[in-house]
Amino acid sequence: MKWSFTIGKLFGIPIRVHITFLLLLVFVALVGKTLTNGLYAVLFVILVFVCVILHELTHSLMAIRYGHKVRSITLLPIGGMAQMDEIPDNPKEEIVISVMGPVASLVIAAVLFGIVSFLKLPLGSPLTASLWEGNMVVSLFWINLFLAGFNLIPAFPMDGGRVLRGVLGVFMDHMKATRIAVFVGQLFAVLLFFVGIFYNIWMALIAVFIYLGAEGEERAWSLRYALADAPVKSVMLEDFRALAPGDTLAHASELFLHTLQGDFPILFGNTLMGILRRETLIAGINDNKEHERVADFAEREYLTTTEREPLVGLYKKMAEKGISMVPVMRGDTLVGIVTMEQIGRYHMVAVAKSAK
Ligand code: ZN
Repeated sequence: MKWSFTIGKLFGIPIRVHITFLLLLVFVALVGKTLTNGLYAVLFVILVFVCVILHELTHSLMAIRYGHKVRSITLLPIGGMAQMDEIPDNPKEEIVISVMGPVASLVIAAVLFGIVSFLKLPLGSPLTASLWEGNMVVSLFWINLFLAGFNLIPAFPMDGGRVLRGVLGVFMDHMKATRIAVFVGQLFAVLLFFVGIFYNIWMALIAVFIYLGAEGEERAWSLRYALADAPVKSVMLEDFRALAPGDTLAHASELFLHTLQGDFPILFGNTLMGILRRETLIAGINDNKEHERVADFAEREYLTTTEREPLVGLYKKMAEKGISMVPVMRGDTLVGIVTMEQIGRYHMVAVAKSAK
């Protein structure tokens, strides 16, 4: 995720903090009425996020045990996020991985409850827990209880939504299970939104986040499902335009305007020697370099693919790197190109076919 940086590693997993989280710390420090108030709030927020890290770490360690890769854990003001390389498509694994986070929060809550009882502290109620004052152990107890409970609500993208999909996945195919879980998640989000409007604006904001998260989850799955067994060949464009190294940017911009292509392979004879990306083309024109050779603007190191590579793998790499076109090679020969636009079209057709 952009604007986040690594603060350390736990079990080999980089822990990252998003810049908005630091802004949150500054915010709670400044809103405190006194210096002590402010410092209390900063320490409190940091401890809450330690609890969130423990929650995410438990998910991650479970995922690693099943052989998945966890790229990082990122802290945002709204909570933590463990980024996995792939979504587990084994229902049982998904259930266990998802349940373990809330279990970790419950264990922390139980430990804190032990301390609270041992010290005979008044428990109060979750409504009296404040950011700026009170007993920190008691407040942390309520927060962890809330983390466990809230995450178990069966709404995507929360843990409970994943558990629901996992359970449904035992009885039906993954796409159908995802659709139902997404529907339940969005129904919940809409309800929460209306309750939030009248009672608590934060609730309404969280509802929007849940709604969009559920939608994103469905899109990711449906794409993955649609592309499942397709090779690159099924969306390869064989009829494409290429540039010669000596062509000018002006010539390239003509092609850019009069074809559907945005990025162009640059061919020296039959040898692929680079790619002119749309961003570079536009930047070149912006710098008044229309009459210079495209060879000077070529990207020389780029991803290539073959006709038989699984489309879903290529799509992942392209999405990760933000690439919109990849040349398809047969040995040293360029035989076609694959664009994000074509993959999107394939998705549309596959969805239409499966709906029949
Ligand atoms: Zn979780």
